[in-house]
Amino acid sequence: MSRIKRILVTGGAGFLGSHLCERLVAQGHDVICLDNLFTSQKSNIVHLLDKPNFEFIRHDVTHPVWLEVDEIYNLACPAAPGHYQYNPIKTMKTSVLGAINTLGMAKRCRAKILQASTSEVYGDPTVHPQPESYRGNVNPIGPRACYDEGKRAAETLFFDYHRSNKVNIRVIRIFNTYGPRMHPFDGRVVSNFIRQALNSDTISMFGDGKQTRSFCFVDDLIDGMMAMMNGPDDFVGPVNIGNPDEFTIMQLAEMVCELTGKSPKFHHKPLPADDPLQRQPDITLARTKLGWEPKVKLRDGLKKTIDYFKSINFDTFRAPTPNY
Ligand code: NAD
Ligand code: UDP
Repeated sequence: MSRIKRILVTGGAGFLGSHLCERLVAQGHDVICLDNLFTSQKSNIVHLLDKPNFEFIRHDVTHPVWLEVDEIYNLACPAAPGHYQYNPIKTMKTSVLGAINTLGMAKRCRAKILQASTSEVYGDPTVHPQPESYRGNVNPIGPRACYDEGKRAAETLFFDYHRSNKVNIRVIRIFNTYGPRMHPFDGRVVSNFIRQALNSDTISMFGDGKQTRSFCFVDDLIDGMMAMMNGPDDFVGPVNIGNPDEFTIMQLAEMVCELTGKSPKFHHKPLPADDPLQRQPDITLARTKLGWEPKVKLRDGLKKTIDYFKSINFDTFRAPTPNY
């Protein structure tokens, strides 16, 4: 096993963060999970709380925190559109001040730091699929801008700390990821469709369902994230981490219906403002530089996600915002 490290995971109680903490704890690292529990809950990490190499700190990343660590994964940020649009100013502060605070810590501790950026930096893309060299088509004043521009500004800060202060950075651009521990009331398409199929007789279809997304199963995503953190120092990114298998939202809905054995009606709603019409990662860079590519097919990942949703009691989850 590699050297035991002290690792901070901001946003560590969230969907992706909890899977990452689990993997790092299993590897024997000393893991600090920092989270304000805005869009998550302790149940995601309850199985880790009694481990001697895991600790949880309830803290808001927009405020400085003084810790001694070797590595930082900066994941703290609401990620679902309904969550990040609920308090857009806070979302921008979380991305920008969160980056400044964690980068400052990385600089002081000489820690390596990874930023969880997003395919949203490409906005509603005019280049398809999206390579990292594409500079994007983001509406800077629209309802998604607090998240898209916040994440773009965070990338800028990462590269400026790298150039100016020699901070050892990594930047990954995550494409739509799904799996167990998605919040049932996050309003994202996979969680919404599964919860609605299991629990009601309608599925909320925004627009005509012809818009596309490419869905990555959480285990593959965490593999890619850790491969990047542990990859060569001369490859700092940004690198796309996602599954290039592209589906229309209608195809996703039909697969969820088939796998749950339910036949809900589609309740059509208008497409939200600035909703990207297509999204598919070009993962050539991740394949060549990291030797990483996703393995889990959508059908198999959905089965595991549906099993998780069947295993939880929706009544025990607090909806983080009214937007789901
Ligand atoms: P999530 O909402 O489940 O996790 C985010 C976590 O950050 C939550 O636990 C939340 O409570 C915490 N958080 C939010 N604001 C905070 C603050 N100010 N201080 C401390 N903690 C705070 O979402 P996720 O899907 O796990 O996303 C994790 C990261 O990955 C985010 O940065 C997101 O932008 C990025 N990402 C995710 C996806 C995806 O498809 N899941 C896609 C692109 C990027
Ligand atoms: N969507 C939908 N019904 C829902 C939730 C989302 O049709 O109940 C659509 C949404 O308009 C978008 C796609 O599904 O086109 C993915 O939405 P999500 O919020 O999961 O993530 P995004 O990729 O837009 O950030």
